[in-house]
Amino acid sequence: EVVLAVEDLRKIYNEGTDQANMAIDRVSFSVDKGEFVCIVGPSGAGKTTLLRCISGLAAPSSGAVTFEGRLLTSVPEQLGLVFQDYSRSLYPWYTNGKNVALPLAARGVPKAERAQRVSEALASVGLGHVEKKYPWELSGGMQQRVAIARALSYRPELLLMDEPFASVDAQTRFDLEDLILKVRRELGITVVLVTHDIDEAIYLGDRIVVLSKNPSVVKEVVEVSLGEER
Ligand code: ADP
Ligand code: ADP
Repeated sequence: EVVLAVEDLRKIYNEGTDQANMAIDRVSFSVDKGEFVCIVGPSGAGKTTLLRCISGLAAPSSGAVTFEGRLLTSVPEQLGLVFQDYSRSLYPWYTNGKNVALPLAARGVPKAERAQRVSEALASVGLGHVEKKYPWELSGGMQQRVAIARALSYRPELLLMDEPFASVDAQTRFDLEDLILKVRRELGITVVLVTHDIDEAIYLGDRIVVLSKNPSVVKEVVEVSLGEER
């Protein structure tokens, strides 16, 4: 069952001006339910642009993105988003629990259920004890786990992550990689993760989509099946 389909996607920034820049072109791939797909490529290959188009944060210049069979026109409620910069994704003046609760409140989840889901989400990333603390009382790796808990609290169909482990030290990165594999196993969630680190992509992904930077600005997509089920 296809959850996400990207068809012949093209994104040109500053289209129609002399600053026009084709960030991605002719990108097509699809993601099945429960799959873990990594998108890799060098800096400037268009990874973030692709993720922004997939998440509905940016409109493609041409081509289409369909999420659960429907054409994407805005950020779907069933989407979880995690970015590289955890220090800017959490509100410092709210407790970690409140931070995790915000998207639930935005989705109209009643207060009692919200409390329950916040506890569950923080427990699932091994941070049950930080609910009443503030983000700045935590290490960078722990803050990123809070950001992951927030993205999981409303039980998204699809978790999109943009270089989520690029700003933490190596040991923390290994811990977070194993955490996300565990979460994925337990929740059976579909994950698309962008990284410039091919080793990380091989470790995490069932399948890897490679965006190659090429002088003609045409980016090619190659899918590599790793076969083995995790
Ligand atoms: P990656 O994430 O792989 O490093 P990006 O998607 O950030 O690649 O960038 C792809 C290309 O698009 C680059 O040439 C970059 O300069 C350009 N680009 C990215 N964002 C913008 C923007 N907001 N306006 C204009 N050009 C942009
Ligand atoms: P705001 O409009 O101020 O961002 P929201 O109530 O929409 O407030 O969201 C609160 C927090 O939850 C914000 O930090 C936002 O980035 C985050 N958030 C909202 N929607 C999502 C989402 N779909 N995935 C991940 N985080 C989200």
